[in-house]
Amino acid sequence: MSDLVLYDVSDHVATITLNRPERRNAQNPQLLDLLNDCWERAAADDDVKVILLRAEGPHFSAGHDTSGVKNDELSSVDDNIAETGTLGLYRWETKRFLGYSRRWREIPKPSIAAVQGACIAGGLMLVWPCDLIVAADNARFADPVVMMGVGGVEYHGHTWELGARKAKEMLFTAKPVLADEAERRGMVNRVVPVEELDQKSRELALEIAQMHPHALEMAKRVVNQTLDIQGQYAALQSCFDIHHLGHNSSYVQTGSFIMVDHNAVKASGKV
Ligand code: ZN
Repeated sequence: MSDLVLYDVSDHVATITLNRPERRNAQNPQLLDLLNDCWERAAADDDVKVILLRAEGPHFSAGHDTSGVKNDELSSVDDNIAETGTLGLYRWETKRFLGYSRRWREIPKPSIAAVQGACIAGGLMLVWPCDLIVAADNARFADPVVMMGVGGVEYHGHTWELGARKAKEMLFTAKPVLADEAERRGMVNRVVPVEELDQKSRELALEIAQMHPHALEMAKRVVNQTLDIQGQYAALQSCFDIHHLGHNSSYVQTGSFIMVDHNAVKASGKV
């Protein structure tokens, strides 16, 4: 059994922990599948009233693990993608990226993400589906994938979370939104000293776990339903398709689903 993701239940709180700190919790397919298994396990357990998502190490998540990406294929993502082409990638990402994130958002129990350090691109797909976000004072949120030739990561929460102008700035410049600004804009619920992140996020989970679970379920639904009536669900799907226009455009031009070497992004110093 892999220990890439840890799972624990106590006091009606399921704690799901990303446990790949040596890679800044970068998401490979196995980690994502295990993560989804943990969400489903928490959803199915009547003893669990609140789900707390946290990460081991100094950084929440560096995003998708593209360390194995070669110039002509996304072999690190899935061996079949090079054979099945752009439609294969679209299907793969529909399941594991937009699909998983959307499923977590719909699980009828309150969820809290506790975020420290870097939360980059694919990292946003893990925290935005959560109902609440507690950020450490050193947290930073960035989506630098315009540097890779696509218009934003697969789960376009940006505009909903930050407002249109800040969303554009975040994408156009690839610079991070820092914890304090994220709080001012309502993207996170509160900012706490990094050394208190675990304690404060757990206190919040325990507080919510005292409430009536069916009422919590309905409270979650009324907010999510309002967002969906405003068009969030349709927008997420549409923006996911635009994301794939970026992959396809890159593929046509360079033979790779992303245009630049990930090392160039790291070397830019922007993330
Ligand atoms: Zn993608």
